[in-house]
Amino acid sequence: MTLRQPAHPPSARASTTDGAPATSAPGWLPTGASGDSDPDGVDDRDDLDDLDGPHEECGVIGVYAPGEEVARLAYFGLYALQHRGQESAGIAASSGRRIVVHKDMGLVNQVFTDTGLAALEGHLALGHCRYSTTGASSWVNAQPQYRETPTGGGLALGHNGNLVNTAELARELQEEPANDSELMASLLAREVDVSLEEAIVRTAPRFTGAYSVIVMDEERLHAFRDPNGVRPLQIGRLPAGGWVVASETSALDIVGAVYFRDVSPGEVVTIDGNGLHSRRFAPPNPTFCLFEWVYLARPDHRQDGGSVLYARRSMGRQLAREAPVEADIVIPVPEAGRDAAAGYAAETGLPFSDGLVKNRYVGRTFIQPTQSLRQLGIKLKLSPVREVVEGRRLVVVDDSIVRGNTARQLVAMLREAGAAEVHLRITSPPVANPCYYGIDMASRAELIGADLEVEAIRDFIGCDTLHYISLEGLIASTPHQREKLCTACFTGEYPIPVPGEHEQLAQIRFDFSGTA
Ligand code: SF4
Repeated sequence: MTLRQPAHPPSARASTTDGAPATSAPGWLPTGASGDSDPDGVDDRDDLDDLDGPHEECGVIGVYAPGEEVARLAYFGLYALQHRGQESAGIAASSGRRIVVHKDMGLVNQVFTDTGLAALEGHLALGHCRYSTTGASSWVNAQPQYRETPTGGGLALGHNGNLVNTAELARELQEEPANDSELMASLLAREVDVSLEEAIVRTAPRFTGAYSVIVMDEERLHAFRDPNGVRPLQIGRLPAGGWVVASETSALDIVGAVYFRDVSPGEVVTIDGNGLHSRRFAPPNPTFCLFEWVYLARPDHRQDGGSVLYARRSMGRQLAREAPVEADIVIPVPEAGRDAAAGYAAETGLPFSDGLVKNRYVGRTFIQPTQSLRQLGIKLKLSPVREVVEGRRLVVVDDSIVRGNTARQLVAMLREAGAAEVHLRITSPPVANPCYYGIDMASRAELIGADLEVEAIRDFIGCDTLHYISLEGLIASTPHQREKLCTACFTGEYPIPVPGEHEQLAQIRFDFSGTA
């Protein structure tokens, strides 16, 4: 890669986690797309994770349940949300007098012990797992973010999404926050002489971007969602009467909560001893993230009357109708390609088999591979099953192609294992634009779909045929109408204006001659 462009509005100012001016990697640029000057052109921290393409952003869960072990419920909820963020995890809890926060770097099961959870007593709790789309991957950026208020109380905040007007808000605050979530917490905490709910109603309209937020003071739990509802946020009811709010229904399921309803775009929900009540801070204008359906959400997540698992099967069926091919077997790229591959196989009548095995325990790890091991690339994560692929014409189903490097390595690996032909089928249209709403997609200069036609991409990847699902076919696989979806990474039509995006669009085009 000869050029690396920031996948973030150029107007965003830079800071590091210690508040010092950043040099090459601005503090709230999405990591992995930071315009850094790493000599090998690779963000080393992400090398293994890049194999999975785009990265989730964060998962949040709030629990209000007097008489129950709320921190434990939040802990198990975070397990179900772990796929949305693996860098750090934290839980805040309160028994009405003060908020206690425990957070650290690592996976949920690395951060919490039995003793640590036991110290988080109370009737309400807030959990968060983080992937850094803005701000560095460091303890100070781990969430929940805690702030004291001028009246001597406190608040804890967990955020999923990404603001696009961080620089403007930071100027007003006259602070250099390490990330947009810290900024939101600071702006809410400085509202004096009003309740936290009132502070949200006053302050949230000034946040621009994607934000599904859970925030608590010592007594109450609040959840609010940007007017576009880009990221999910759902409410569930516990059997004994408590409440849970979480990023996905899978987190409700794991703690035994029954889905109640979504937090509506532009709504703030408050939960306290009087139950749940709602206020609106902006009219709803929903444009839900289409990519949640393709890749980000767990297959057992349900939204707007639809099931992610069935939507992905439908994408596979649609792809089979749009791009049939003479082949012997259909194999998924695990895990996100699995349900779509099953759909493709069902539609065509071709056999389905696991031709690739994922090493589940290589992922985000504190022990980084050496440079020589890193060059093994995809082989650290996926292995072909020779008995399945050898001598066969394969249909390989995956969710997306971002930079193209993983797909290229994958095809080479399958050919080495004896595949006679490799036909790649992708359940999203070409990713041609960066995401500013909380998904680390890489910069436009890195996106192979930004500038190359499908045939040129096929040539680069080295497969026999390559087909992407049509945008219309993808949308038809979800329960949404097109006007209710964000499709920006495919179409460039950003539903929430992004300062500086037009200048970004004019940037130098993708160069794959030296692709990492
Ligand atoms: S740009 Fe893509 S990933 Fe980002 S919110 Fe829109 S559809 Fe989702």
